[in-house]
Amino acid sequence: MNWLWTTPDLIAAMHGRPVGNLPQGVTGISIDSRAIAQGEAFFAIKGDRVDGHDYASFAVANGASLLVVSEGKLPALGRLVTPMIVVQDVLQALVDLGCAARDRTAARIIAVTGSVGKTTTKEMLRQALSPSGSVHASVASFNNHWGVPLTLARMPENTDYGIFEVGMNHANEIRPLVSMVRPHIAVITTIAPAHLGNFRNLEEIAAAKAEIFEGVVPGGHAILNRDNAQFGFLEKAARAVGVAHIHSFGAAADAEFRLLDFISGPEGGLLRAAVGGQTLEVPMGAPGRHIAENAVAVLGAVHLAGGDIEKAMAGLATMQPEKGRGRRYQLAKDGGWFTLIDESYNANPASMGAAIALLRDTEPYGGGRRIAVLGDMLEMGEHSQAVHAGLAGPLLESGIGTVWLGGPDMAALRDALPEGIEIEYRETADALALHAVDSVQPGDVLVVKSSKGTGFSRIVAALLDKY
Ligand code: ATP
Ligand code: MG
Repeated sequence: MNWLWTTPDLIAAMHGRPVGNLPQGVTGISIDSRAIAQGEAFFAIKGDRVDGHDYASFAVANGASLLVVSEGKLPALGRLVTPMIVVQDVLQALVDLGCAARDRTAARIIAVTGSVGKTTTKEMLRQALSPSGSVHASVASFNNHWGVPLTLARMPENTDYGIFEVGMNHANEIRPLVSMVRPHIAVITTIAPAHLGNFRNLEEIAAAKAEIFEGVVPGGHAILNRDNAQFGFLEKAARAVGVAHIHSFGAAADAEFRLLDFISGPEGGLLRAAVGGQTLEVPMGAPGRHIAENAVAVLGAVHLAGGDIEKAMAGLATMQPEKGRGRRYQLAKDGGWFTLIDESYNANPASMGAAIALLRDTEPYGGGRRIAVLGDMLEMGEHSQAVHAGLAGPLLESGIGTVWLGGPDMAALRDALPEGIEIEYRETADALALHAVDSVQPGDVLVVKSSKGTGFSRIVAALLDKY
């Protein structure tokens, strides 16, 4: 049997107490009783809203062969007869197991953080490195205090490349995560206003991201965005903690991994980049200049990790935009077609800027309108009004003539836009969805972009449902 973990290794890593007739090993690790597969271990993590211990019997019903539970919850588990490993604290046990996974592997480890583009970059690395060896990477945005140890604990011993998304909402969150991951290569995509409510300025955000350098292994690498205003700050921070090799990527003339040119196309684009002394022509499967920027960091990381660059390029060519992050739909209406670009996964000023540029670079079929369907960027704190009103500049510069807005904070943008632009404003996402369904015309191209919590994905759903 091909165990992810043998039971003796599990017990040793977690300092646990075995109870019952334990299997020889487990084939996987899960913290979600609904998504668990046969033969996996279920870790009963206590989250903000639910306690995994309450779902232990569901996990067993769904195939869990072993439970990891905490000593204090044993009485509440009653007569459950599934084999268990009992620990003091289940989350700590997951962390311990994650660290054991890191200790036992010879994989090249890449950690990705940044204000935007972490998942996009992580998924591109997965695509780019898969032809060069076995890749283990974070699921979705599993980038926090449980997502990172879970991803580590799931890493098979014989992995060639481990790719980890590392995130934060506050200072001091990345430090403990990166001390588990201990990357050979740390990538910071960009520093931009996100979670501004928790930080006073961009430098504070950069300082929190810079915690990632503290975990880079001796002789390791940092890859930093040369085009970002915080480059100098990050470079100094990396140097201060002794990161051995500091690299830059971007369009700047002195970037080491350089974006020479990007030509945007309807289904992707063509990137020219200089990496490792070679000039590369990279057909991109996903559209948007921001994706091409991330791709240059990816190619740099592949180069440093010893991956095959030619094969990495082929991987990037077949990459499709993720749901909510630029996925496109051609939808039929009144005998014609319109294009919907779903960017509803999340938004902050940097990714709003990227979405507006994406719309600017997308030619409407048959000369329809370019329509920006924008909702509130959450967690902007006291800067919120200014940040929302500040989108007027990029919209005007991009020549976007139609703007449909929803949500209380977007009123600031409505008020900041000049006359001559076709503006519709609704207070809620659902009201704006009705407007969108009614008013979209054949030939239009729409981009729908907003923070996750605003429900703008329902606008996308309404359009997909109707057309
Ligand atoms: P989260 O913190 O929610 O996990 P993330 O950092 O993983 O976010 P992604 O999910 O990759 O970010 O992308 C979020 C949004 O930002 C998407 O709409 C994407 O198109 C956009 N984006 C990706 N990369 C960049 C970039 N380099 N610059 C600006 N926007 C970007
Ligand atoms: Mg993410």
